[in-house]
Amino acid sequence: MAPIGAETARLLDALGVDRAAWTDGSMPSLSPLTGEQVAMVRVSGAADIDAALDRATAAFRAWSRVPAPRRGELVRLFGEELRAAKDSLARLVTIEAGKIPSEGAGEVQEMIDICDFAVGLSRQLYGLTIATERPGHRMMEVWHPLGVIGVISAFNFPVAVWAWNAALALVCGNSVVWKPSEKTPLTALATQAIFERALARFGEAPAGLSQLLIGGREAGEALVDDARVALVSATGSTRMGRAVAPRLAGRFARAILELGGNNGVIVAPSADLDLALRGVAFGAMGTAGQRCTTTRRLFVHDSIHDAFVARLKAAYASVAVGNPLEGDVLVGPLIDRAAFEAMQAALAAARDAGGVVHGGTRVGEGASYYVRPALVEMPGQVGPVLEETFAPILYVMRYDDLDAAIRLHNAVAAGLSSAIFTRDLTEAERFLAASDCGIANVNLGTSGAEIGGAFGGEKETGGGRESGSDSWKAYMRRATNTVNYSDALPLAQGVSFEI
Ligand code: NAD
Repeated sequence: MAPIGAETARLLDALGVDRAAWTDGSMPSLSPLTGEQVAMVRVSGAADIDAALDRATAAFRAWSRVPAPRRGELVRLFGEELRAAKDSLARLVTIEAGKIPSEGAGEVQEMIDICDFAVGLSRQLYGLTIATERPGHRMMEVWHPLGVIGVISAFNFPVAVWAWNAALALVCGNSVVWKPSEKTPLTALATQAIFERALARFGEAPAGLSQLLIGGREAGEALVDDARVALVSATGSTRMGRAVAPRLAGRFARAILELGGNNGVIVAPSADLDLALRGVAFGAMGTAGQRCTTTRRLFVHDSIHDAFVARLKAAYASVAVGNPLEGDVLVGPLIDRAAFEAMQAALAAARDAGGVVHGGTRVGEGASYYVRPALVEMPGQVGPVLEETFAPILYVMRYDDLDAAIRLHNAVAAGLSSAIFTRDLTEAERFLAASDCGIANVNLGTSGAEIGGAFGGEKETGGGRESGSDSWKAYMRRATNTVNYSDALPLAQGVSFEI
C-alpha cells in the first residue's frame, strides 16, 4: 500500500484542494492511522479572520435578499457535488479521523442527506398567523435571515456537523464561517473545495458566502468574541462549551451548544438480547468510542445480567481492532496519544473504585494509538463513570428496580442520548417519559441518529438542537407583525388612551 501521505496528497488533488493550503503551512496534520504527518496546513491569522468576517458580513447582506427557494438551489448543487466526491471525501475522513470506511462513507452520506432536507426546507420557512384580540387586525410571525453564522466543530465528525449547520444556515439566508477542529483541517479544506464547485455552477452567490478559518482555540475564540457573528454553533467538549457560553452571553449573541455526552442504555428482563447485544456493541465500540452519542454506561437487569454480560464480553474479545485501510476492522484508532492517556487514566480510576476491567490494552506501538475496547464491571455509578472519557470504555452495572435504574441513568451531568431495550410497553413508556436526554430510544442504541430529527442534548450537553425537525428556527430571527386594517385604533388588553 502507498504511504498514507502519498494517498492523502492524491485525494486532496483529486478533490481540488489548492496545494498551497496544505503543503507549506505551519500546522502539522497527522493521520491517527499511523501517526505520520501527512500535510503542513496554513493557519488563518488575525488579519485573515478579520477580513473573512468583513466578507461574510457583506455576503450576508446580499444573500439574505435572494429568495429562499433560490438559495435552496445552491444547496442542491452542493449535494450533487458531494455525491460526485463521496468516495474520495469518505476516504479522507478515514485517513484524518480514523473512521472505518463504512463510517467515513456514512459521514458523507449524512452531508448529502442534510442537503436534501435543506432544499425541501427552502420552500417551507413558514411562520404562523395568530388570532388577535383586536377587531380588524391581523397578527403573524415572519422568519428573517439572522446574520453571519460561526461554526466551530470537533474532530470526531469532521465534516458532517458543519454540513448540518451550513446547509440550514444557507437556505435560511445566512453566511457561514467555519472553524473546524485543528485535528481535522484536511477534510475541511476538501469540503470547502467541493462547496466552491457548487458555487461556481450556481454562478451568482456573493463572495465569502461560506468561508473556512484554519487554526486552534484562538481562531474559535475570535469567532466567539466578534460582534459581526450573530450565532455561534459550537460542537465539542463540555470544557469548550463552558469557556464559550459566557463569552457569547456577554455580548448577547446566540449559541447552539452541542457538547459532551455520557450516554446510558438499560437492558430490561424482556429485552430481545440479540438486538441489545448488537445495539450496545455498535454504540459502545463503534468509532472507537469517539462519538458524542457513544454508549458509556450500561444497566443490566439482575435476571439476565450474567447471560448478557457473558455474550457482551465475548463480542468485546473478538472484535477486530486495527488500521481500517488494511483490513476488515470494526474499531480503528484513537485520535491521538492524549486520548489514549485519558483512557488509561479512566481505567486506573475505575480499578481504584472497585471496577473489574476487561480489555483496554494497547494494540501495536509507535505513533498511532489502537486499543482493545474496555468493558468494565462496576460495583456502582462512581468515579470515572460519572464523566465522559472520549474512548471505548463501557461501564456495566446491575439493577433490580427500573425506577432506580432510570434515576441512576439521569444522575450524570450530561444529557445527550439514551436507550432502553425492552419488549414491555409500559417499561418503554416509563423510560421515554423519564429520560432527561435530548435523544431517547427504544430497542436501538444511543448512536447513529438520522438527520430528520432535532439533534442535541440537555444539561451539560449544552441544550442546542441542530439538523432536522424545526432546528432551522435557530438560524433565523422571528418578527411578530401586526397589521391594523380597520379605521379604529383599539388598544390591546382594553387599555384606554383617548387624546
Ligand atoms: P474540543 O472541545 O477539544 O474541540 C472542539 C472545537 O472547539 C475545536 O474546533 C477546538 O479548536 C474548539 N475550541 C476549543 N476550545 C475553545 C475555546 N475556548 N473557544 C473557542 N473554540 C474552542 O473537542 P474534540 O476533542 O474535538 O471533540 C470531542 C468532544 O466533542 C467530546 O466531548 C464529544 O462528546 C463532543 N461532541 C459533541 C457532539 C454533539 O453534537 N453533542 C458532537 C461531536 C462531538
